[in-house]
Amino acid sequence: MDTKSFGINTVCAHAGELEDTLYNGAVSPLYMSTSYAFEDVEVKRYPRYFNTPNQVALSKKIAALEHGEAALIFGSGMAAVSTALMAFLHKGDHVVFQNTLYGGTSNLVVEEFSKFGIEYSFTKDLNPESFEAEIKENTKVIYIETPSNPLLTITNIKAVAEIAKKHGLVSMIDNTFASPVNQNPIDLGIDVVIHSATKYMGGHSDILAGAVISSTQHMDTIFQLAKNFGGSLSDYTVWLLERSIKTMGIRVKAQNKTAKKLAKYLEKHPDVARVYYPGLKSHPDFELAKSQMKGFGGMLSFELNEGLDASRFQKELQLIKSSMSLAGVESTILSPTLTSHALLTAEEREKQGIKDGLLRFSVGIEEKQDLINDIEQALKKLKA
Ligand SMILES: *Cc1c(COP(=O)(O)O)cnc(C)c1O
Repeated sequence: MDTKSFGINTVCAHAGELEDTLYNGAVSPLYMSTSYAFEDVEVKRYPRYFNTPNQVALSKKIAALEHGEAALIFGSGMAAVSTALMAFLHKGDHVVFQNTLYGGTSNLVVEEFSKFGIEYSFTKDLNPESFEAEIKENTKVIYIETPSNPLLTITNIKAVAEIAKKHGLVSMIDNTFASPVNQNPIDLGIDVVIHSATKYMGGHSDILAGAVISSTQHMDTIFQLAKNFGGSLSDYTVWLLERSIKTMGIRVKAQNKTAKKLAKYLEKHPDVARVYYPGLKSHPDFELAKSQMKGFGGMLSFELNEGLDASRFQKELQLIKSSMSLAGVESTILSPTLTSHALLTAEEREKQGIKDGLLRFSVGIEEKQDLINDIEQALKKLKA
């Protein structure tokens, strides 16, 4: 099926699907075998080679979603991040990272890279010139993440991709926060797109998975390492992820809509000091976000006024649950200071603009008014 002419929801529902030739069932059959006969067949199938029928089918769907030629599915987002990076970095090489990175990625770099003799720099800010300024003789990769966690900063994808091309580097993006529904970086010149499929692709807070999408040539380089690192995803979860992605388009569009309305409501709220959402005109990169995103996503952050205790506010919420992860159909909230950014010093957090009262809000698919009512009742208790 040539999916290029189809819209997002059709790609979500159908791209890559396996036909049930035995019973004509509506969904892809699940093949759980870890052992396939090799005589008289062209492909030696084995789950760690990323080539079982269900793995191949889902890879096609994910490649189609990101407008890439090929994709691989991993056992976690971090397996995808680490394998993609290490596939292009050898001893003595250097990589430029954006300064605001997902905590797990930042830990991978800071805790592991020196063991492999890989050098790295973080940019001083998100200006494209700041990426170019960090490029050295031995630089091989530029890596970005937009919108970023937790302040939803926006990096200029096209400008960074052009800098990478000019210097002959591989450009990579963690596209998790946007999801393929809202942002397709390959169309903007990026070489390698990475997802934690645990988030919007899975969408129901019950799957841990990752994905990498790129050209056939780059995916071959990544595969050579991936089969040795062994980070593939088991077929049952692959099948479940295919099922989840079928509704990703409608889920994410609903989340975009509710998040934008909530961002506007919070921005006007007398108890809220600041809201961070790329879809608000007050966001410093609103125009840039508009130029590279189809929707502004379901993630936002906000600060309560000083004197209002953010931890107590979280505890008073009834519908919106405090939780570490994000992007599920259920709304969740967390304090970066107490969770994702707890390992940083207060000074480092201050430098990144992360205040103690900051709350990161992952908007689910609940009715907007029910979420607002929950916030109102929590604030009322807080001020009583
Ligand atoms: C969650 C997340 C990851 C890591 O994914 P896991 O599935 O938890 O391994 C990487 N990048 C971003 C932006 C994430 O939100």
